[in-house]
Amino acid sequence: MAKTYYITTPIYYPSGKLHIGNTYTTVLCDALRRYKDMRGYDTFYLTGMDEHGKKIETVAKERNLPPIKHVDEIAEETEKLWERMRISHDDFIRTTEKRHKTVVQKIFERLLDQGDIYPGMYEGYYCMHCESFFTESQLEEGNLCPDCGRETSKLQEESYFLRLSKYEKKLLDFIEKNPGFITPESRKNEVVAFLRQGLQDLSVSRTTFDWGIKVVSNPKHVVYVWIDALSNYLSALGYSTDDDAKFQKYWFGDEVVHVVGKDILRFHAIYWPIMLMALDIPITFRLHVHGFYMQKEGKMSKSKGGVIYPDTLIENYGLDELRYFLLRELPYGSDGVFTPESFIDRINFDLANDFGNLLNRTISMINKYFQGKVTAYSEATTPYDEDLRKVAEATVADYETLMDELKVAEAIKTAWKLISRANKYIDETTPWLLAKDESKSGELENVLYHLAESLRIVGILLRPILLEASRALFKQLGVPKSLREYETVTFGELSEITVTKKPSPLFPRLDVKEEVQKLQKVIRGEEESEKTEEDETLVSLDDFTKLDVRVAKVVECRNHPNADKLLVLTVDVGDLGTRQLVAGVAKHYEPKELEGKLVVAIVNLEPVNLRGEKSEGMLLAGSNEKTMEILFVKDLEPGDPVQ
Ligand SMILES: [Zn+2]
Repeated sequence: MAKTYYITTPIYYPSGKLHIGNTYTTVLCDALRRYKDMRGYDTFYLTGMDEHGKKIETVAKERNLPPIKHVDEIAEETEKLWERMRISHDDFIRTTEKRHKTVVQKIFERLLDQGDIYPGMYEGYYCMHCESFFTESQLEEGNLCPDCGRETSKLQEESYFLRLSKYEKKLLDFIEKNPGFITPESRKNEVVAFLRQGLQDLSVSRTTFDWGIKVVSNPKHVVYVWIDALSNYLSALGYSTDDDAKFQKYWFGDEVVHVVGKDILRFHAIYWPIMLMALDIPITFRLHVHGFYMQKEGKMSKSKGGVIYPDTLIENYGLDELRYFLLRELPYGSDGVFTPESFIDRINFDLANDFGNLLNRTISMINKYFQGKVTAYSEATTPYDEDLRKVAEATVADYETLMDELKVAEAIKTAWKLISRANKYIDETTPWLLAKDESKSGELENVLYHLAESLRIVGILLRPILLEASRALFKQLGVPKSLREYETVTFGELSEITVTKKPSPLFPRLDVKEEVQKLQKVIRGEEESEKTEEDETLVSLDDFTKLDVRVAKVVECRNHPNADKLLVLTVDVGDLGTRQLVAGVAKHYEPKELEGKLVVAIVNLEPVNLRGEKSEGMLLAGSNEKTMEILFVKDLEPGDPVQ
């Protein structure tokens, strides 16, 4: 049986549009998940949203919306962003969902019953903005909030408390016995130091707002953020429900990884393990803590102005460029800096020059000297060949170790060692000179084979990082599907190669000055909107004809297991075979009524994963504020084209 891998991001608090710094954790987990997939693991990737609390209640009121409408909007936007960034999560849990609420209520009542939660009085200085109480000694001068600097007010309220003190010693022991529990080491030391000062019991309920999960035995209280939010890692797996197969499989499986930013270290390293201890659930996870993307002026934040959003970078430079930068530039265990210069430099130097250019030169030479085809050639090996092979081997070994240690930036650096070595190999072997001497044809073929094979290996290693470029590389090199798999990552697996006649650059080189200026403008908020609305509605006929629209017959239809609004349809598209489509029509159609119907669908869209279900196309439907209607046809056959 395949080994299992359960990886999670924290659930995001919907306080605004996510900037690139906010998206780092999600991209990191996506890369790790794809890596483990490639290594044959049975993986489960969870992300989601933390949707309760006073702040949400207040903002919704300001917007004149029920809180649920407000968070629905943000959740939809967030899911769209993840789709755009091709995040491969299996589930998107929202704390306002019923499946989550019931679990939280069960957990709370159980801890209350067994005395790990008890009622008491909370007194302190309360910051409305941060929804936090502080002790007098924690406040800034003038009784200001130490986190946001706003005024606080002295408050006393009834509250339930979680008995952290009882588990302090047990948690310290656990951390000492499990040295890999918290990484990097520096974060572990921080936690240990904090624990040694002794723990205060934690206030885990509130009576000052309503927008939360009610305490069943005392509905005046809502469960406060810690127990509510942290429980998502269990509720998404069906813990304590009739259907807890995922919990059994992934929580008790081979690897469980929580990835978090350093700002929420304490919650995950102290409150969460103590909750699990109290619930008698084994602590099977490891906690990985990363730093932040900063700007020159400090932490990237919307209130300071000058943030940059993923959309802008994807639109102007591409998804791979953004993923590469995010994953490459943040060093393990510390903070990184985003500047327009560093972003454009990474694209130009690493992606366009080192990597893209190597592929382009290799393909051009194979076309020029061997009409596009080379085979493995073993006779005329040189010391350069041997060295290149050795570097390839070492690269793969290092890459594995680093990825397994969650050191993604370092793993990428390692892959670039092989790229650099291959570039140097061209200088050493001088193929253009070999080409002048008929008798050296074998040697020349050998050189080109070595280059192509190195690039194939690089393509495999970068599959979890560069989603589009790795595919393009395989395509241009003519690497068959079976040799794109990780099992074939050893040098020499590829015996013959036929490259494309027309290589196109993976990463076009950018004009540094121009692009840096453009980005600086965006950061200052002066982005000129170059596109008018009219431009956006005009699509060339060429673009339109790229879409393959067909009549499809619904063979099977069911509700999406993780989303109320979605249906999962299996459709027959005639000669194209069957496809799975996920469509947002569950509010308007019952699964059974669609079975047997002929619908219209776009069938050549790149597949996407929608909350754990693959969607290989798009069902066409019309809608307005009142209703939604699927386009049905009557007398056509499955697979018939629609123009
Ligand atoms: Zn505050």
